[in-house]
Amino acid sequence: MSDGIIATENGRFNMNHALLIKSEMDRLEKEMELLRKQLQLIQSQCEHRFVEDRLSQHCSYCYFVESLYY
Ligand SMILES: [Zn+2]
Repeated sequence: MSDGIIATENGRFNMNHALLIKSEMDRLEKEMELLRKQLQLIQSQCEHRFVEDRLSQHCSYCYFVESLYY
């Protein structure tokens, strides 16, 4: 499978490549939004078990991060 970046024969990129990259970015943004919502759902239902970092703590189950620096 390709990494999605296709060079032309002379190694330059043309408008089609820009369009390809743009549409791929749009796709990933939508996917990101979907994943963010899924993660939020998991975090809202999680019984957090916090692990302390330096200035914050994160849940070892769902990676919810809480600042300890108020
Ligand atoms: Zn959690």
